[in-house]
Amino acid sequence: MSEERLRFLRSRIRDIPDFPKEGILFRDITPLLADVEAFRTSIQLIVEGLAGEPVQAVIGIESRGFMFGAALADKLGVGFVPVRKPGKLPSATYRAEYDLEYGSDAVEIHRDALNPGDRVVVVDDLIATGGTAEATAQLVHQCGAEVAAFAFVINLVGLEGTKKLEPHKVISILDY
Ligand code: AMP
Repeated sequence: MSEERLRFLRSRIRDIPDFPKEGILFRDITPLLADVEAFRTSIQLIVEGLAGEPVQAVIGIESRGFMFGAALADKLGVGFVPVRKPGKLPSATYRAEYDLEYGSDAVEIHRDALNPGDRVVVVDDLIATGGTAEATAQLVHQCGAEVAAFAFVINLVGLEGTKKLEPHKVISILDY
C-alpha cells in the first residue's frame, strides 16, 4: 500500500466533532464516496488485502457497509448480501444481538442468503468496538458459511475492535 494512496484517502475523510452526540468524533466517509478516484482506490486496496483469497459472497453491514460492499462485490464478481437492522428484511431471518454502551442492538440476515460452506468477506465503513462485525460473523455461521475476511476502510485502533474478530483475517485501510 503506497503512502501516497493512503494520504490521498485520508484527505477524503472528514472529521465531525460531537456527532451524532457530544463527545463522539464522527469519521465521515461521504467526501471519499463523492470522489471517484478515492472510492475506487478504497475498493482496490480491499481487493489487494484479500490477496486472491476466493470468496463466494460479499456481506455489507447496514448502511455504510452497503456502499463499499456493493462496489467490492462487483469488482470481485460475486453476489452482495445485506445484513440489516431488525425488521428490515422481508423474508425469514437469523438474528444476532450485541451489546452497546447502553443496552443492546441486533442485526439480521436472510436465512437463505448464503450456501453452507460459502466463504465470505464482511464489509463495513468503520470498525469501532467490533460489536457489529462480531454479530455479523455469528449470522454468517448461522447460515453454515464462513468468514474469509473482514474489511473496513477505517479502524479506530484505540477501541481494539479487531481483537473481537480474532483469529479471522482483518483488512483495514486507515488507522485512526
Ligand atoms: P462497532 O460495532 O462499535 O464496531 O461500531 C461500528 C459501526 O458504528 C459502524 O457501522 C460505523 O459506521 C459506526 N461508527 C462507530 N463509531 C463511529 C465514528 N466515530 N465515526 C463514524 N462511524 C462510526
